[in-house]
Amino acid sequence: MTVHQKNLNIEEIVKADIAHHFHPFTDHKSFHAAGGPRVITHGDGVYIWDGKGNKILDGMSGLWCVNIGYGRKELAEVAYRQMLDLPYYNTFFKTTTVPATELASKISSLLPRRFQHIFFTNSGSEGNDTIVRWVRHYWKVMGKPYRQHIIGRRRGYHGSTWVAANLGGMVGMHEQGGTQLPGFHHIQQPYWYDFGGDKTPEEFGLEAAAELEKKILELGPDNVAAFIGEPIQGAAGVLIPPSTYWPEVQKICRKYGILIISDEVICGFGRTGKWFGFEQFGYQPDIINMAKGLSSGYLPIGAIAFSEELIKPFFDKGGEFYHGMTYDGHPVASAVALKNIEIIQNEKLVERVAELAPHFNAMLKKLEDHPIVGETRSVGLIGALELTRNKAKRERFNESGRVGTICRDHCFNAGLIMRACWDTMVLAPPFCITEKEIDEIGKLARQALDKTYADVKAEVA
Ligand code: PMP
Repeated sequence: MTVHQKNLNIEEIVKADIAHHFHPFTDHKSFHAAGGPRVITHGDGVYIWDGKGNKILDGMSGLWCVNIGYGRKELAEVAYRQMLDLPYYNTFFKTTTVPATELASKISSLLPRRFQHIFFTNSGSEGNDTIVRWVRHYWKVMGKPYRQHIIGRRRGYHGSTWVAANLGGMVGMHEQGGTQLPGFHHIQQPYWYDFGGDKTPEEFGLEAAAELEKKILELGPDNVAAFIGEPIQGAAGVLIPPSTYWPEVQKICRKYGILIISDEVICGFGRTGKWFGFEQFGYQPDIINMAKGLSSGYLPIGAIAFSEELIKPFFDKGGEFYHGMTYDGHPVASAVALKNIEIIQNEKLVERVAELAPHFNAMLKKLEDHPIVGETRSVGLIGALELTRNKAKRERFNESGRVGTICRDHCFNAGLIMRACWDTMVLAPPFCITEKEIDEIGKLARQALDKTYADVKAEVA
């Protein structure tokens, strides 16, 4: 492969980064203690390279987004051509660009027929912000202004803007955001490993869904606007809900006329082996939020699909939705997303994820014999392994996630990116991964687990 950035002085980059770059989701004290950032310089397929020349298998597709893998020239070429033709024009005030409109049509063609209209954003967070504003406005348009409350799950992740952080159920984020916004509620996540006790996952799934009905009745059904959920809770630690959960959630929402928002930012565009997570888990959302896999992370872009039934009142009654961002439907990002979807379709990458799923699952299952692995689980090419101090009792080391961080660092040093969500290790590799590379993940993960075990042996029951 060709590397275009030549003669990099990585030491200078590290120094400049320490001096000038304030990083997101980073503990700044340990960042400095570690001597600054690891600089990633280039990528190819499932691998990335750092400034020291280390080759690392990216088991996380960046941040669950580089689904087609690194180094696809077609995307660069399409971006270059679009920049020459028209680098920017907006989609406000009755205008559009060719790629934005083509992309709206393309996304709609991938979804069930009731999703005909697409609203563009630049990220998953913006998408969820937009959805909250839109949904509350929708209920006003429908003559039910009291339907303003939105229910999500604990440890749900819906983004980092203030609204998205309120919508999500990450307590640490709530605490740092100061006063919490009114109208956001969170129910227990459908996490059998932590909360299922002696129940079967299916029994527990129904119980977790019943929490939703309880909350709806507590708030008053007429006051609830929507329920939001990720098909699989990604940042919470790849919490795969029992098969009974989503159909029951849907039943409850339909009973009370509450909208279902599917946050497909991670699951969308093939991650689970279907185009969208709601297809994998058997429910029919009213609103869908997408980002990440839409462009495989090559450029920032997000999209929201609204079902036609929700959109129609806006066409009938008129009136403006006072909302929009300068780069909504950015022509270059749209052109790149179109090419990305074309690659997914032409190379049958969604089918490939489904085909690779058993091998990926078997690789994880093999790690269950390890003394500190409590459970492994996966759907498609997204999976997790639970670190435990007592396998039989499904006991965590503690709540801080310290052991997960130790394991993540050992992974990095072994040449594998595996992310830690507290003490749950998670994986979501690019769809172009081969069976051999999946086996390599298993081998590197076992090395990292052995080293982690050596570090924490005294705490293991
Ligand atoms: N929703 C989900 C389910 C996500 O996983 C994320 C990001 N990890 C977001 C929303 C936020 O997306 P972004 O970081 O693009 O704002």
